[in-house]
Amino acid sequence: MDQKNPHLSTPTAARNFGFFVDGQWRDGTERFERASPGHGTPVTRTVRCTVEDLNAAVAAARLAFEDRRWSGLSGAARAGVLLRVAEILRRRRDEIAYWEVLENGKPISQARGEIDHCIACFEVGAGAARMLHGDSFNSLGDDLFGMVLHEPIGVVGLITPWNFPFLILCERVPFILASGCTMVVKPSEVTSATTLLLAEVLAEAGLPAGVYNVVTGSGRVIGQALSEHPDVDMLSFTGSTAVGRSCVHAAADSNFKKLGLELGGKNPIIVFSDADLEDAADGAAFGISFNTGQCCVSSSRLIVERSVAADFEKLLAEKMAKIRVGDPLDEATQVGAITTEAQNATILDYIARGKAAGARLLAGGGPIDLGRGQYIAPTLFSGVSRDMPIARDEIFGPVLCSMHFDTVEEAIQLANDTVYGLAASVWTKNIDKALTVSRRVRAGRFWVNTIMAGGPEMPLGGFKQSGWGREAGMYGVEEYTQVKSVHVEIGKRTHWIA
Ligand code: NDP
Repeated sequence: MDQKNPHLSTPTAARNFGFFVDGQWRDGTERFERASPGHGTPVTRTVRCTVEDLNAAVAAARLAFEDRRWSGLSGAARAGVLLRVAEILRRRRDEIAYWEVLENGKPISQARGEIDHCIACFEVGAGAARMLHGDSFNSLGDDLFGMVLHEPIGVVGLITPWNFPFLILCERVPFILASGCTMVVKPSEVTSATTLLLAEVLAEAGLPAGVYNVVTGSGRVIGQALSEHPDVDMLSFTGSTAVGRSCVHAAADSNFKKLGLELGGKNPIIVFSDADLEDAADGAAFGISFNTGQCCVSSSRLIVERSVAADFEKLLAEKMAKIRVGDPLDEATQVGAITTEAQNATILDYIARGKAAGARLLAGGGPIDLGRGQYIAPTLFSGVSRDMPIARDEIFGPVLCSMHFDTVEEAIQLANDTVYGLAASVWTKNIDKALTVSRRVRAGRFWVNTIMAGGPEMPLGGFKQSGWGREAGMYGVEEYTQVKSVHVEIGKRTHWIA
């Protein structure tokens, strides 16, 4: 093992993790063993919690909320804890990135960059904890004064997916904590390690016991029970639209818990002939290949002006062929492994369906054999019609479909021709086109001449079937609050009964 980079090989044995309830590590009888998708060897063993374990976690979160050990603190005190978390994450950055890579398969350099983003989330969350405030109405006449309070909603259930296990967690946890809520987290069973490591970090930073609890296990059992739990006040779910829909049913059938949903996307990237085509091609290659396209905001539909389409696709295919797909622990790797076997099979099936439907393959088009692990080449299809499954479904892999347009109206219509509305981008040097398209395309995140840029100050979330609510920034904190109107009578009451 290299002394300077002591983590850059797989562990000799799988690491055991407990689960975390009320500030204590607990163990269970049944375990799930996770193999690294990039290497095929076992890397972690986590507990398959029972529904009783989940109930204990919800009870701990409820008690911690009701006795106000966290919500009763000042925003400044909460911010102090969140800033200490940021410091500890800085210290443990490489270690957390390493476990993220082993379970998820993403490149180590990307994972480290994601931890930097997570540190920023805690810093922004600290600011938000201090800035969270309500409103007042000095306009109700001399006899009445109105105040609007934001109060923490209570116990939050947080279900996170396997594509960005730590990043998606950290785009939510600091804001949930800033609001004063307590929580029970259920990470995806295949990528639970870093969610458990965050429990250590939060405890060291001084977060009171019971505020952050983690239960591990399958979505079908533990996720479902969390979404149905009558003592959970809000559920934040990130994952597939199908499970998002089941969360809506579960909320309706239990206690009408509030839902935050960040679901699928089929995100357009619109390229006009007047764009910097070199920049746009680099953005398109990045937008579909980053995180192997297993990204809810992946730009998976290329909508390019017909007059430059052939040249642009050639440029893009050349760039995609140069992307370094390889071992996630290799510093030079840009695209790592596909996270799960099921996802690998899904992506390859869509590629086969694209070929069978007559789409023209310009780049990639199949698996890459590195001797171990599962890898797929960044793939570009042209000649795609809007009714093909590869153009309509969220593939969640490095598969880009190109479609052509002639007018601004046609570009907008194609971009909006989807049930999703998570993200979009436009590439043009014409300000009128850039503004018209950004205002007319229905998506929660929009980029002009860039892609996937931003920080935790800006809200995240989707239109249409991409979800409900917003995460991050001040909008994110407010999602985890209830709004209360307080009316204060001034002076003597005008009596109803004479
Ligand atoms: P899921 O929606 O099944 O998984 C997301 C999370 O939900 C995981 O923590 C999962 O746990 C949990 N979960 C699963 N079933 C339930 C349930 N009944 N109730 C509550 N929680 C549940 O996604 P998949 O892993 O099956 O991926 C399928 C597709 O979903 C992908 O191909 C992609 O299109 C989309 N997806 C979108 C994501 C996004 O960021 N928008 C993220 C992940 C997937 P566990 O993994 O332990 O079963």
